[in-house]
Amino acid sequence: MSDDHRNRGVPAEVVEPAAPFISSPPDWLDGRPRIGIHTSIAGEASRALDTAARIGCTALQIFSASPRMWPRPHQRRIPTAVAARFRARRAALRLGPVAVHANYLINLASPDPRQWANSVAAFADEIIRASQLGADYLIVHPGSARDAGIARGIVNVAEAVFRASAEARSVPELRDAMPHSAAAPDPGTDHSAPPPASSVRILFENTAGQGTGLASEFSHLRDMLDACRSRGVSPGPGVCLDTAHLLAAGFEIRTPEGLDRTLAEAHAAFGLDHVCVIHCNDSKSPLGSRTDRHEHIGRGHIGREAFARILNHPLLRGPNRAFLAETPIDRPGDDRRNVRALWSLLGLIPPRSIPTLRGSARSLPRPFGVPRRPSVSSSRAKSRRPVHRARRASSRRTRTRSPR
Ligand SMILES: [Zn+2]
Ligand SMILES: [Zn+2]
Repeated sequence: MSDDHRNRGVPAEVVEPAAPFISSPPDWLDGRPRIGIHTSIAGEASRALDTAARIGCTALQIFSASPRMWPRPHQRRIPTAVAARFRARRAALRLGPVAVHANYLINLASPDPRQWANSVAAFADEIIRASQLGADYLIVHPGSARDAGIARGIVNVAEAVFRASAEARSVPELRDAMPHSAAAPDPGTDHSAPPPASSVRILFENTAGQGTGLASEFSHLRDMLDACRSRGVSPGPGVCLDTAHLLAAGFEIRTPEGLDRTLAEAHAAFGLDHVCVIHCNDSKSPLGSRTDRHEHIGRGHIGREAFARILNHPLLRGPNRAFLAETPIDRPGDDRRNVRALWSLLGLIPPRSIPTLRGSARSLPRPFGVPRRPSVSSSRAKSRRPVHRARRASSRRTRTRSPR
């Protein structure tokens, strides 16, 4: 898209939605729990997959470009070879779903025509990069309409998602991509169907309620999904629920009754079957603080007991739902410890195979989601996991700022 296009105001032309395509389930949708963490793509995108597998993930989240800067022209697309390596490695490691978190500067609700147009262009690029990587989900904070109000913001979001999706569908690069996603036809069984231009599903993330941002209330999410449906966005967007944001926005998810009430409200508003990802983050900020600060699992205002209830809640635990942490890395190994905490709270041990040789049979994960057995001593369980290697890998990169 040209700069001229970016800087134009809200365009007036109408773009017809593409016809829906036949879907088949992806490889990762095998009924086993999907646990993951936000992982850095520094160096080469496919390394994030190895890092995730090494620390015990069966799913992961990444940024496809710098999350707090507008991408430079050469960063708007993933080089074809890099995207192909990512998709091949992801298939070899049987990781999924892969979620991409969108840039924080994007404001799809903006009442300012120029900022809105820039956001639509940047979001189209996000859809394109996520599709190139074969990602399943693209998670976005809807943004803020500021003084223009919630209703205007929701209309702007639906229009922005519609136009960005249409823009992404027109890009030739995606015809070469082989999406590996929930909505994509299986190229192995359906040779007659051309690969779809984009099959990544957009997920709106709930927010902590800072300022005038949308999505701190379930009614906002409901209205955005309805507005996108009415506008003809396909595939229809879903929802990502962030536990730290829920608590900060005033949802009492720490007690059994509070969690039941929150989930009942969410289900009544937009249907829990539209919740594809749960961001599992403990919160440094208390209930109703409207402040977004993530903490390690079990070490914040939510606590281990509440996380055990969340992860095992019958309405949340399902084969097609991923639990992804976006916890800080204050010390080397924090990512591995948070992933292990999630498995432990599910009553399972993480996958124990660590990839050592790229592309070799040894790198394939063993069956995962093995129930914890009281007879297995912790020392024996530990000896089966090469934690030292994981610790060394984690120590190579230490970040203090966690995704939101
Ligand atoms: Zn989040
Ligand atoms: Zn987020």
